Amino acid sequence: MVKPWDVVVVGGGPAGSATASWLARKGHRVLLLDRARFPRRKPCGECVNPAGVEALRALGVLPAVEALGPARLRGWRIGIGGDSEFSGDFPAERCGYGIPRERLDAVLLEHAQACGTGIRMDAHVVALLREGERVVGVRSADGEEIPARIVVGADGLRSVVLRRLGLLRRGPRLRKLAFTAHVSGAGELGERGELRVQGSSCVGIAPVGEGVANVVVVVQGGTEIGGDPECFFDRALERSGLAGVRRLDDVLATGPFDWPVRRAVADGALLAGDAAGYYDPFTGQGIFRALRGAELAAATIDAALLRGDTSAAALLPYERRRKRAFGSGERLQRLIEAVVSRPRIFAPAAGWLRRSPTLANAMVRAAGDLGWTA
Ligand SMILES: Cc1cc2nc3c(=O)[nH]c(=O)nc-3n(C[C@H](O)[C@H](O)[C@H](O)COP(=O)(O)OP(=O)(O)OC[C@H]3O[C@@H](n4cnc5c(N)ncnc54)[C@H](O)[C@@H]3O)c2cc1C
Repeated sequence: MVKPWDVVVVGGGPAGSATASWLARKGHRVLLLDRARFPRRKPCGECVNPAGVEALRALGVLPAVEALGPARLRGWRIGIGGDSEFSGDFPAERCGYGIPRERLDAVLLEHAQACGTGIRMDAHVVALLREGERVVGVRSADGEEIPARIVVGADGLRSVVLRRLGLLRRGPRLRKLAFTAHVSGAGELGERGELRVQGSSCVGIAPVGEGVANVVVVVQGGTEIGGDPECFFDRALERSGLAGVRRLDDVLATGPFDWPVRRAVADGALLAGDAAGYYDPFTGQGIFRALRGAELAAATIDAALLRGDTSAAALLPYERRRKRAFGSGERLQRLIEAVVSRPRIFAPAAGWLRRSPTLANAMVRAAGDLGWTA
C-alpha cells in the first residue's frame, strides 16, 4: 500500500502553487499535479493588482517576480473615448504589475518546488478516489491512483475536481468569450492599463514589460467570431484604434467564465482559485484571489491535518474566511459588470467618473482590492 501524500494539489496556476508552497513550508508532504508542461501560456490580462503584489510578497516570491522585469501599473483608463472615458489611479505608494503568465506561473511553481513540493507535469487528473463520501486521492489519465489525506482542486475555470465533487451551483448565465494574445508596437502605454468599451464588448490593453503588451478582447455571445478567432482578434484590434500593432503569438480563446459553486469544501477535499467559483474577468482580481485564497486554504488545511480531521466540517473555516476576504470584491465585480454591459448606463457613468476623479480613484483602488479608502 502506497503511503498517502498529506496533500495532493491538482493544478499548478497561482492558486495551486501558492497553496502547495504554504503547506510544504509547514512540513506537510505535498504533491502538485498539472496536466500541462510549464512554462505554458494562460488566457489572462496578466495584470497582478496591488493586493496581488502584496500576496506575492507574503509568499516570499516578490523578488523573483521583480527580477523578471514586469511592467509597473499605477492605474487604469476606462471608457468609450472622449467625454465617456475616465482614469483612476492606485495610491502613490502602491502599484500593480503586468507580467506574462508563462513567466509568473513558472516562478510560482519553482517556488513551490523549492519549498519542498513534489511536482509532476503532464499529469492530467480525471477522477477522485473515494471511500464512501470521503475523497481519498485522485486518478490520473494514465490510470495511476494517487492517495492523499486531502485533495486541493486548484484546476481553474473548468475544474474537474469541482465537477467530480458535484459542487457546481449552475451553468454560466454570462455568455462571454475572451481572446488574448501579446502584441508589440502598441505605442506609449505608460503605467496605466486601458479598457476600451465598445457596445457590449471590451478590449483591454496592458504593458507586460520589454515593449510587449497583453491584449484581451471580450465579447458577449460570440456569434460574430465566425470560427476564426485570429481574424476576429485582428479585426477587433483595428476597430479599437490599434491597427499598427503586431501580434506576437497565437490567439488563446476561453469562456464562458461565470461558474458559481455551492461551497468550496467537502470531506477530504477543498477548492481554491477559479475552481472555487469565478464570475467575470473585467476587474482583473483573479490572481489576487488565487494567491490570498491559497493562504486561507493552507491555514485551514494545516490545522485540519494536525488535528487529524479533514472532514468538510473541519474545513469550513476556509469557507467563512473566503467570504469575509472576497465578498465585497465580488459584489463590486457584479455591479461593474452590470453597468459596463449596458452602454446606455455606462456612457453617462463614465462621464460622471471623469468629472469626479476622487471617486474614479476610489473605484480603481477598490477593484485593486485595496478597499475604498487610501
Ligand atoms: C480573459 C481573462 C482575463 C483575465 N485577466 C486577469 C487579470 O488581468 N488579472 C487577474 O488578476 N486575473 C485575471 N484573470 C483571472 C485569472 O486568470 C485567474 O483568476 C487565475 O489564473 C486563477 O488562477 P488558478 O490557479 O485558480 O487557475 P489557473 O491559472 O487557470 O491554473 C489552473 C491550472 O490547472 C491545470 N489543470 C486544469 N485541469 C487539470 C486537470 N484535470 N489535471 C491537472 N491539471 C489541471 C491547468 O493546466 C492550469 O495550469 C483573467 C481571466 C480571463 C479568463
